[in-house]
Amino acid sequence: MISLVDLTAQYHSIKKEIDAAVLSTLESGHFILGPQVVKFEESIAAYLGVQHAVGLASGTDALVIALRALNIGEGDEVIIPAYTFFATAGTVMSVGAKPVIVDVDPQNYEVDITKIEAAITPKTKAIIPVHLYGHPAEMDPIMEIAHKHGLKVIEDNAQGFGAEYLGKKTGSFGDIGCLSFFPTKNLGAYGDGGAVVTNDPALAEQMRMLRAHGWKKKYYSEMVGYNSRLDAMQAAILQAKFPYLDAWNEKRRELSNRYTEHLAPLGVVTPVEREWAKHVYHLYIIRSEKRDELQAFLKQKGIASEVYYPLPPHLSMPCRKFGYKEGDFPHAEKAAKETLALPLYPELSLEQQDEVIAAMKEFVSK
Ligand SMILES: *Cc1c(COP(=O)(O)O)cnc(C)c1O
Repeated sequence: MISLVDLTAQYHSIKKEIDAAVLSTLESGHFILGPQVVKFEESIAAYLGVQHAVGLASGTDALVIALRALNIGEGDEVIIPAYTFFATAGTVMSVGAKPVIVDVDPQNYEVDITKIEAAITPKTKAIIPVHLYGHPAEMDPIMEIAHKHGLKVIEDNAQGFGAEYLGKKTGSFGDIGCLSFFPTKNLGAYGDGGAVVTNDPALAEQMRMLRAHGWKKKYYSEMVGYNSRLDAMQAAILQAKFPYLDAWNEKRRELSNRYTEHLAPLGVVTPVEREWAKHVYHLYIIRSEKRDELQAFLKQKGIASEVYYPLPPHLSMPCRKFGYKEGDFPHAEKAAKETLALPLYPELSLEQQDEVIAAMKEFVSK
């Protein structure tokens, strides 16, 4: 059986360091925020080349808190791509704003930069580009459009930790960058976790307040906030894993390139790394018009695969009230019918990968 991701393989490869981090946290007696979290926040900021990082309870909270810090709410519109994880749309709705959806580039699934301006109205407050699957969105044109129209930019960098656009790390371009440390993400905790990053000290302070009940001073709430604190255990685990992130991303790139080398000649539609991009392959996504049949075939060979995502946000129940319908965003809808993630994680062996490739060959020649 070849799984899509194997989190225990990674744990076993660095067990000593993880166990030590967990035990020392237990001994420290400090479990919510505290020195471990501060240390990890400093590591994130240094890695991305930004001034401030704020550890949070999840990537979803990171988006909510970013929107709140930018005062986005009732009556506002936020531009998001048509193909993404639901949270990108859901968080906009949860602060009371309307997600205004723009179709994606059919080749690399990022927001289609040629369609953004037509979606801007007097109510538009922000754009949320998503670095989907680990491939960066085209940040220079996005930032240019945002500046021209006075819009904020929140990068949904949940899948792109370590990715680069023209040599600069994703998450460091916008007003705020959002990270998720969900266990399967490129840097994953052993539980939920997230962070926001920014170069603006006032925004950083707002987000620190929002993560703990609106407090600057404990118990003196200045706004309605949340309980969205990164816990010390996850921070210690993430800090122990951090030095490996670049090597793991490199491994993802090598394995992905190897997949492409073998699958592209078979006529399989493989992912594209644009010339300005450093892709970190959070997921290795192929496309097939016989996607469901292919997935069943792989399953029967003992190979896991997964659909990210079968339902584009505009066709989800919560978005119905905005009047979106089938046919509105053809590239996203086609992607939802054709995309398939193949097994990929840094510890995947070449033998396992060969098995996947052999099964793909067999399916294609059927
Ligand atoms: C994982 C993810 C999120 C949400 O992160 P959680 O930590 O699971 O809340 C948001 N956006 C995208 C694109 C994601 O992949």
